Amino acid sequence: MSNEIKTQVVVLGAGPGGYSAAFRAADLGLEVTLVEARSTLGGVCLNVGCIPSKALLHVAKVIDDARDMASHGVTFGAPQIDLDKIRAWKDKVVGQLTNGLAGMSKMRKVKVVTGYGKFTGPNTLVAGDTTITFEHAIIAAGSEPVALPFIPKDDPRVIDSTGALELKDIPGEMLVLGGGIIGLEMGTVYRALGSKVSVVEFADQLVPAADADLVKVYTKYNKDNFNIMLSTKVTAVEAKADGLYVTFEGKNAPAAPVRFDKILVAVGRRPNGALLDAVKAGVNVDERGFINVDKQLRTNVGHIYAIGDVIGQPMLAHKAVHEGHVAAEVISGMKHFFDPRCIPSVAYTDPEMAWVGITEKEAKEKGVAVETATFPWAASGRAIASARTEGFTKLIFDKETHRILGGAIVGINAGEMLGEICLAVEMGADAEDIALTIHAHPTLNESIGLAAEMYEGSITDLP
Ligand code: FAD
Repeated sequence: MSNEIKTQVVVLGAGPGGYSAAFRAADLGLEVTLVEARSTLGGVCLNVGCIPSKALLHVAKVIDDARDMASHGVTFGAPQIDLDKIRAWKDKVVGQLTNGLAGMSKMRKVKVVTGYGKFTGPNTLVAGDTTITFEHAIIAAGSEPVALPFIPKDDPRVIDSTGALELKDIPGEMLVLGGGIIGLEMGTVYRALGSKVSVVEFADQLVPAADADLVKVYTKYNKDNFNIMLSTKVTAVEAKADGLYVTFEGKNAPAAPVRFDKILVAVGRRPNGALLDAVKAGVNVDERGFINVDKQLRTNVGHIYAIGDVIGQPMLAHKAVHEGHVAAEVISGMKHFFDPRCIPSVAYTDPEMAWVGITEKEAKEKGVAVETATFPWAASGRAIASARTEGFTKLIFDKETHRILGGAIVGINAGEMLGEICLAVEMGADAEDIALTIHAHPTLNESIGLAAEMYEGSITDLP
C-alpha cells in the first residue's frame, strides 16, 4: 500500500546536515519530514565516519599511551586484542548517538521516512512506497568514498573507510592509499592494533591542505610508525592468492611490486548529487555530482536548498551542521546567510594536526600580508610533563592590523585547543586581545596566549 505525505519541509538525507536542518526547522515551528536511506539516522558521520573512527582512535591512543609509559617507569604487558569487544564498543558508541537522534526526532515530531528518495517533480519526491509532496526541500544527500578503477572491486582485501571501520581483522601488511586525514586516522588505528602500515601519497606531503611545518612534525614523530611514500602513486594492483601485489611509480616507489594483505583506499569522497533525479525538480547538478547554492543555501530552484558534502568542500560535519541551520532559518523567513570567517579542520592523528582560517600557504597564494608567531611546545610545562614536546602552536596575523586571521596547532589535543583560535578569528580579535586573556597554567592552551604575547612583544608599529 502506498503512503502519501504532505509536508512543509522535506529533508533528503539524515547526516549532520540533514538532521540539524530538520531539527532547526521543527524548532522554528515548521512541519518536517526527514527521508533517510539507512535504517539509522546520523548519516556517514555517526554511522561510518567521524564517530566510529574516534571510538577506534580512542582504543589506539590508550594502547600507545600504555606503551609510552614504559619510559616513565610503568610497564604494562603486551596488549591482548579482542576484536569482537572493540567492535562491540564502537557499535555501542554509534548506537547511543543514532538512537539519541531518533529520540530527538520523535520529541520534535519530525516524521522520519526510511527509503531512498528521488525527485519526481519540483514539489514531489518518492521514497520506497511513500510519495511526499513538499513546499520546501533541503538536499543533504552527502557523499561516498571514491573507488579507483585499476584496483580490484570485489576483493574483500580491498577496503574503503567503511570497510576499515568494520575491523574484520588486523592485516599483517596494510597499504593506505592516500595520505589525507581519513587514511591517516584509520592507519593510526590499524598500526596501534598491530598492522605494519605503509602510506602512499601522490603529493609531496601528507595532508596536502595543511601547512608544511605542521605536517613535518607529524611525519617526524611517526617516522618509525609508518612507511611513508610521498610523491608516489599506485599504478596497478594484482590480486593473488597470497596477497595483493602493488606496483608503484614515482619518487619513492619500490622497484618491484610489493605484497600487502589489505589495501585501504582513502583517496577522497564524491558527492551523491547525481543520484537523486534532481533534474526532475529542475535542480542543476554539476558533472562531478555537486549542487551549486547561493549564500542562503538555495539551489537554482528557489524553494529547494542543498547543504553539506553534496555542495562542496570542505566535506566536514560541522560545516554541514551550520549550513543545515541556515537553510532551515531561511525557509522560516529569517534573513540569514552562511558566511563563516573560518571553518576548522582537524586530523585526529597522533599527534593531532589542527588548523583554521588562513594558512601560510594560502596567504602566499592570495598575496595576503601576514606575520606568524609560533610557540614551541618544548617550552610548555604541560607538554614537558606529558612527555609530548614535539608540537607547536602557530598564530597567523594580518601584518597591518595585527588581527588574527588563522592558526594551526600540531600536538596532543590540538583539535580540542583549536576552538579558542576559531573564536578569536570569528570575533576579529587582535594579538593584544589574546595576549591579555589569562590562560590557566599549566595547560597546552597557554601556548595560544604565549604565542600572542610573543607576537605582541615583537610589534613595533602598534596602531
Ligand atoms: P552524510 O553524513 O554523508 O549523510 C548523508 C545521508 O543521506 C546518508 O545517511 C545517506 O544514506 C543519505 N542519503 C543520500 N542520498 C539519499 C537519498 N536519495 N534518499 C535518502 N537518503 C539519502 N568530518 C568531520 O567534521 N570530523 C571528522 O572527524 C570526520 N571524520 C570522518 C571519518 C570518516 C571515516 C569519514 C568517511 C568521514 C569523516 N568526516 C568527518 C566527514 C563527515 O562524515 C561528513 O562531512 C559529514 O557526514 C557530511 O554530512 P552530510 O549531512 O552532508 O552527509
